[in-house]
Amino acid sequence: MANEIAQLLQLQSIDQQETEAIERIKRLERDRARIEEKIVEAEQAFAQQKDDLRKFEHESLMSNLKVDELDENIRNYQHRLDTAIISFKEMEDLRTKIISEKNRIGQMEDEALQMMDTIVKDREAVAAAKIALAERQVELKAAIADIDGLLKQVESSIVDLHSQRETLTQSMSDFLLSQYQSLHRKFDDPIAVVSHMTCSGCKLKLSGSTIERARGSLGLVACEHCSRILYIE
Ligand SMILES: [Zn+2]
Repeated sequence: MANEIAQLLQLQSIDQQETEAIERIKRLERDRARIEEKIVEAEQAFAQQKDDLRKFEHESLMSNLKVDELDENIRNYQHRLDTAIISFKEMEDLRTKIISEKNRIGQMEDEALQMMDTIVKDREAVAAAKIALAERQVELKAAIADIDGLLKQVESSIVDLHSQRETLTQSMSDFLLSQYQSLHRKFDDPIAVVSHMTCSGCKLKLSGSTIERARGSLGLVACEHCSRILYIE
């Protein structure tokens, strides 16, 4: 009897350890997935920053081309003023256009200088972000490697538990094992200690005769409420 209880308690302990190990694997896998998300987020943020810079550089280039175009217009107007035989009205129009184009160029050149300033700063920021991203990637990948190491440990502990369980169940009778298995489908703790006259599994008070039988050595005794197998410490 005492031997059977000892075997059942050992089996229960192995099964509980396996349940815990499986839970631990789930937690580690969740942590791992979260870290992988962080890597993707960091990479996306950097790509966005780079893309913003590229767009701004393009905008600046377009603005410079526009200045060149205005400059070309002015030269054309001036050439026409200098060489063509035109009416006084057209002359006035051309002079007005030249003044307004020159004003626009003046404004755009100021803007272009500000843009160049911003671009220089943004390029520095992107270069710094690139270094920061690389450091972050190293840090997060190291965290993933740590988790992978732990996962391997836990997985190999489960393999150990399986082989312990195999050895143990081979030494148990089929009847004992099948009784345990059917209870284990319902409970994580099919084997319950009698404590203060109650079943430690369901917490209900046990009858005197159940306790007496549990004290004795005539086979296994089940809780009259939940059917867990009882033992006395
Ligand atoms: Zn019970």
